[in-house]
Amino acid sequence: MINITLPDGSVRQYDNGITAMQIALSISEGLARNVLAAEVDGQVWDASRPIEKDSSVKLLTWNDTQGKSTFWHSSAHLMAEALEALYPGTKFGIGPAIETGFYYDVDFGDREFSSDEFKAIEDKMIELAKTKEEFIRKPVSKADAIAYFTEKGDEYKLDLIKDLPDGAITFYTQGNFTDLCRGPHIPNTGFVKAVKLMSVAGAYWRGDESRKQLTRIYGVTFPKASELTEYLHLLEEAKKRDHRKLGKELELFAFSEKVGMGLPLWLPKGAALRERLVNFLQKAQARAGYEQVVTPHIGHKNLYVTSGHYEKYGADSFQPIKTPQEGEEFFLKPMNCPHHCEIYKTKPRSYKDLPVRLAEFGTVYRYEQSGELHGLTRVRGFTQDDAHLFCRPDQVKEEFMKVIDLVLYVFKALGFDDYIAQVSLRDPENKAKYIGSDENWALAEAAIQEAAAEKGLKTVVELGEAAFYGPKLDFMVKDALGRKWQLGTIQVDYNLPERFELEYTGSDNMKHRPVMIHRAPFGSLERFVAVLIEHCAGNFPLWLSPEQFIILPISEKYEDYAKKLSDELKDSDICGLIDFRDEKIGRKIRDAEVKKIPYMLIVGEKEAEENKVSVRKHGQGDLGSMSIEEFKKQIITEITV
Ligand SMILES: [Zn+2]
Ligand SMILES: [Zn+2]
Repeated sequence: MINITLPDGSVRQYDNGITAMQIALSISEGLARNVLAAEVDGQVWDASRPIEKDSSVKLLTWNDTQGKSTFWHSSAHLMAEALEALYPGTKFGIGPAIETGFYYDVDFGDREFSSDEFKAIEDKMIELAKTKEEFIRKPVSKADAIAYFTEKGDEYKLDLIKDLPDGAITFYTQGNFTDLCRGPHIPNTGFVKAVKLMSVAGAYWRGDESRKQLTRIYGVTFPKASELTEYLHLLEEAKKRDHRKLGKELELFAFSEKVGMGLPLWLPKGAALRERLVNFLQKAQARAGYEQVVTPHIGHKNLYVTSGHYEKYGADSFQPIKTPQEGEEFFLKPMNCPHHCEIYKTKPRSYKDLPVRLAEFGTVYRYEQSGELHGLTRVRGFTQDDAHLFCRPDQVKEEFMKVIDLVLYVFKALGFDDYIAQVSLRDPENKAKYIGSDENWALAEAAIQEAAAEKGLKTVVELGEAAFYGPKLDFMVKDALGRKWQLGTIQVDYNLPERFELEYTGSDNMKHRPVMIHRAPFGSLERFVAVLIEHCAGNFPLWLSPEQFIILPISEKYEDYAKKLSDELKDSDICGLIDFRDEKIGRKIRDAEVKKIPYMLIVGEKEAEENKVSVRKHGQGDLGSMSIEEFKKQIITEITV
């Protein structure tokens, strides 16, 4: 008999050689139907593989990341089986699971392949899945493995086997298809109920441009047909909300190759939106005791040598800016922190002065590979809503609580209500690789966790995920489509105070090092605006809308009345515009809807006579007619956050 420890800590006894599937069956049949694989002593295994010693076992289903990736990797085998059946002689490279779905790199020889053939492959996959072929694992010797793929004539598998040690090679077979693979796999192909091939691309064998280009086929599969439908719907919705598309349609930002890739140009409406975000946070920060500072876009090489950024960003980053002065070099700043350390040092600080909170909307530059650039989410120049808090070790918890308040205030005002906090701590097994005293680390780690608990945050703790210079708390936000984004971050730093020799005089009259906390509720304005656009599909909260109203005169006759209204609203800090075009009112309404302008004010004869406006709200329709005073009151209540 062997002892199996389950995740809830309970221990059960089973015959030696029991499989995870049999364990699942002994618990409940319903569970067994959903088991895709198992984690045995921390390793992912086939649910059908015999367990031969005392072990900790976690059953994996579709709800586990590793369950899903086992499902998708097995689907890559299923697709390969279908391809081999449909196109005999196809050779296979590698077929891993990816974040959503899987791909397989294949060599069709001289055959042209296009996505027109997807349907036939999908049908074949479903046909094979219905026969519930088992995935059978078989250890093989290196010689046998080579013999098998030599016979089959698959040079890619032979190339892979070359690097594998004898004794560690396994084959997996389902139906008529055998693959070189270390596994694990789902019990049988019958778990796959829905298939969609997504796209086809070229991929060099082993990523080497001097080698053959294979055909990469991407696909995704699900254990329920309804999940595929939902997934495709979500993709469609994500496409509609793509911030690159909406950014163009709503005239928020643009890119120009002449200016440079990855360097966003904020158009007037985008700049107005950005300005509002900045004002909003600046006001909140002023209330929370932050002081605004301004620092230059470049810094002397010595600054970054001191901070360590030169070593980190130096070679791969932008090149130095030379001056007529022999040997003098400047760099575009990759971070604001070093500049802020120098500001801290401009005068002596006492324990009574702390915390010092220095804030800056600081623009930084980092060289991202051109292939990595993506709309506003991956750019080469961006503005962080940065601040650095310099405090005493005993103030870390209180400062964290205050920053959490600020981040939650931001989320609430912008409609993000689904988030968790990820707390990243030291790897307790490997304390030597972190800078800073044991005592300070223990203090800060406890402080962060207590602060998160007292603020009632939903938290996950990740051991070993802390930076070498300090623990941190990141906010992971779910958007309206359920996609996860990392937004605000709060990070303790023991490194920079050391490197810059920052000090304060303690109550003991001795010199001490302050703790530095980096924090950015938005992260960067660029990335935040991108996430916000996709979250609200371009329908910004009213207070943030670059244009809050548009006045639509029914004809030229009512333009004066429209102008009078517009001036009155602008006097109350409500901004918008008038549609002076010589168009039918229906057309004007439609165009305003496309631009997602929150309020449309229609004025014609009746309105002008009664000194009123007919109000339409975007996405809601007609709100009826009201006096301009009533409208102002409504809009001001809505804008106040
Ligand atoms: Zn495999
Ligand atoms: Zn920083």
